Amino acid sequence: GCREGGGDMADSGKAEGLGGLALLGLVPGAPSCPHGPALLFVKTSQGREEGRRFYACSACRDRKDCKFFQWEDEKVSEARLAAREEYNRNHQPFFTHSQNVERYKNFVLLPLPKRRFCQECQQLLLPAEWEKHSDHQFLCNVSTAQLQSPSQLLYPLENKKTNAQYLFTDRSCQFLLDVIIDLGFRRVLSVGTPRLHEIIQSKASREEDFRVRSLLLDIDFRYSQFYTEDEFCHYNMFNHYFFGGEAARETCRKFLCQDNGQRVIMVTDPPFGGLVEALASSFKKLMAMWKETEKEGHNNQEMPTFWIFPYFFESRILEFFPTFNMMDYQVDYDNHALYKHGKTGRRQSPVRIFTNLTPSMIVLPVEEGYRFCAVCQRYVSSGNQHCEICNSCTSKDGRRWKHCVLCKKCVKPSWFHCSHCNRCALPSHACEKTDAGCFVCGQAGHKRSACPSLSRA
Ligand code: SAH
Ligand code: ZN
Ligand code: ZN
Ligand code: ZN
Ligand code: ZN
Repeated sequence: GCREGGGDMADSGKAEGLGGLALLGLVPGAPSCPHGPALLFVKTSQGREEGRRFYACSACRDRKDCKFFQWEDEKVSEARLAAREEYNRNHQPFFTHSQNVERYKNFVLLPLPKRRFCQECQQLLLPAEWEKHSDHQFLCNVSTAQLQSPSQLLYPLENKKTNAQYLFTDRSCQFLLDVIIDLGFRRVLSVGTPRLHEIIQSKASREEDFRVRSLLLDIDFRYSQFYTEDEFCHYNMFNHYFFGGEAARETCRKFLCQDNGQRVIMVTDPPFGGLVEALASSFKKLMAMWKETEKEGHNNQEMPTFWIFPYFFESRILEFFPTFNMMDYQVDYDNHALYKHGKTGRRQSPVRIFTNLTPSMIVLPVEEGYRFCAVCQRYVSSGNQHCEICNSCTSKDGRRWKHCVLCKKCVKPSWFHCSHCNRCALPSHACEKTDAGCFVCGQAGHKRSACPSLSRA
């Protein structure tokens, strides 16, 4: 499979576009791999399509995880089609979701000492299965509390190229929940946010007067062991594919449309590898599902959404969702050493919340230094100074940015204005136009600042 660009979180928007691969998207009649319909891609060079278009897996960037590949114009024989169908069937999980729900019911009836979880297979075991897993590492005495926090029990699937499962810290997860409650939401569509889903579901089971509910959509099928079909749908957010078919799609639709679709919010924290366009198209389809059965009230509204993503994707996200704003809140992760809150300088988490809710409604914690900017009408991080010239709080990364009069905008504190490139950049940048001529006279060998025609004048 593929992703736009290199995919790793570079400290700029350059993760996309330059990588030589363009996504053409989900097209009707696309062939399927075990992860649903494949996406159409094309190699590019200097922004132009080059070479044959091809289909690749939407979910896996690594050929190791899914080796599906097909040229767009390739003739596929009947025999190969049949083999592919069989392959896709065989590459579905061993137990179905409903089997897993049955297994769970039996599991919770077991006395504590008989409750085992196989760490190798990432599976709850029933006593009859112990034998088969006898030389696997397992956990004993799995408690109700552990069953309610599967994200702690399961190991995070960190393989960057596919799952990129980075779990919220308590700080970030609790913050999201507090905001959701304060804003009066009752239902949360958790798309790739298993930890948010789990704190909502476990609170709901413990506290009678807690009215928030969550539906988890995630590609990680291990979660089907812990949640019913009304709480979890096996879903691919790069092609809007419900593995559970029409029934699962209907579960999602019903969830969104209860109470006339009121007080629902979608919260999503996708892998950062790129494919913003594919994600945006799926989120638009989820939003459309919500809009469909809307009856009265919110006629022209968009489903409230939090899209959690690095700040350097801001312009890409705004391309698809012009109503979104980026919040300064730094989202951080337990199993990601680099993306911790509270570090200084470049070590701060680059991950933010993009939302179509009114920014002033999202109250960021003052104890952490966030303050309200009356001009911008939103909460900003402590280092984010209001620039009088830009008339906005311009820092994206939490550090104090400085205004460049030549660029007519604020830039990172570590940047300086390069007269050669005619823009601000890191001092160590490779000048784009080293062998292009001087800006003034066009001759090679000197920069504008040293142009002899200037000194003569
Ligand atoms: N911070 C979140 C987890 C985000 S990690 C939390 O703590 O709840 C990204 C999540 O997206 C993971 O749960 C991963 O399983 C899921 N995911 C990865 N690829 C996906 C895909 N193609 N479709 C749906 N979910 C996916
Ligand atoms: Zn096992
Ligand atoms: Zn400025
Ligand atoms: Zn500048
Ligand atoms: Zn330069």
